[in-house]
Amino acid sequence: MSVPLNDSPTGFDRFGFHPSIVRGLDAAGFQEPRPIQAETIPAALTGRDVLGLAQTGTGKTAAFALPLLDRFVRERGQGPRALVLAPTRELATQIDAEIRLLASHTKLKAVTVFGGVSAHGQIRALRGNPEIVVGCPGRILDLIGQGALRLGNVETLVLDEADHMFDMGFLPDLRRILKELPSNRQNLLFSATMPGEIRKLADGLLRDPHVAQLSVSGPAETIDHGLVPVREDHKRDLLEQILAGDECESAIVFTRTKHRARRLASQLDKIGYRAVSLQGNMSQSQRDRAMKGFRKGQYDVLVATDIAARGIDVQGVSHVINFDVPNTPEAYTHRTGRTGRSETEGCALTFATREDLAWLRATEKKLGAPIPRRNIPGFEDDARELQASPQKASESPRRGRPGRARSGRAGRDRSRRPSRAAHA
Ligand code: ADP
Ligand code: MG
Repeated sequence: MSVPLNDSPTGFDRFGFHPSIVRGLDAAGFQEPRPIQAETIPAALTGRDVLGLAQTGTGKTAAFALPLLDRFVRERGQGPRALVLAPTRELATQIDAEIRLLASHTKLKAVTVFGGVSAHGQIRALRGNPEIVVGCPGRILDLIGQGALRLGNVETLVLDEADHMFDMGFLPDLRRILKELPSNRQNLLFSATMPGEIRKLADGLLRDPHVAQLSVSGPAETIDHGLVPVREDHKRDLLEQILAGDECESAIVFTRTKHRARRLASQLDKIGYRAVSLQGNMSQSQRDRAMKGFRKGQYDVLVATDIAARGIDVQGVSHVINFDVPNTPEAYTHRTGRTGRSETEGCALTFATREDLAWLRATEKKLGAPIPRRNIPGFEDDARELQASPQKASESPRRGRPGRARSGRAGRDRSRRPSRAAHA
């Protein structure tokens, strides 16, 4: 059934996927491979290691999922045959959903495992011999410890958000998991960012990898970036003004701390916004409700800590707002990458106070371009105040395609300040 490659087939035909995978692509509505998919799938299909670096929202999930699924449908094997590691529960769940969709016309099974919920269901699901296990490192180690998960058959290891998986917070767990895996395996590493010091760790894991680096890892071009100077005590007014604007359909607002996320979401809720927080102090069922509600459009504003910064793909997010500046340039890229996904456009605004000027200079240097300054009517005094401060923030040319009309409303049917009944 698969199209011979010498017919120079177009679209996904070029990969000669198994018919059941082709039907999965139809189910997902994918017609043309995205550049990172075209660049990495052929190498991954041959069993080579891959390092795939491409901007946020460009289809990295399917880039690693499709070759796995295709191999697993064609060749039998004892599971789990692939282990996909992701940094957050929300991202693991999302990857699992995409894999299930692409595998919907196969008999392949995927199981997601992460902490914060009882392990019973996960252990039961693992007994069903899934080909693919997607999860967060902590729970994976727990399950290995309990004898509920054995990784000795893993043929392919995937690290999504790979640079983050090598971060100090994850590295000890990652090392322990690596010890459980056969050394003769395929490694697929994907991310939008790969800082130099982490690249060395990644290189240590990879064997003769096919490296696909699409554009210097940095903010996606589909995003209109803006930096808004503001006084700390004016941030909420500024946020409300932006959220109330016609252009804002749905927003993810990032705060520095869990407490600030929780408080800000409840303040917005009180004045009639459909807002919800997502932060690590919430129970897993609260986190699920928030994420599902935001995906369904029950909420227009997700106020989150950096747990929502990586990988999360929600359609129709017109704005990302850094209420507090992120810690690193990588975090800036990932947070802002929650908008402007999959060839749509988005707007990313970063609130900067006088205290953030040093951060700003360091970040712009690493990003290699200034973040265009944006003045919001009514907040001109804040901008003047910031510019008058000793570390003057230079006025800079705008990057990207500033001021363009935001087309293609995402079809979220909602009124801006709905009555509180909408929370039901
Ligand atoms: P990344 O991991 O690069 O940030 P994702 O894998 O989350 O990006 O993909 C972003 C969005 O693009 C998802 O909604 C996904 O379903 C969609 N997508 C991926 N590949 C294709 C494709 N070939 N055609 C259309 N949409 C795609
Ligand atoms: Mg991703």
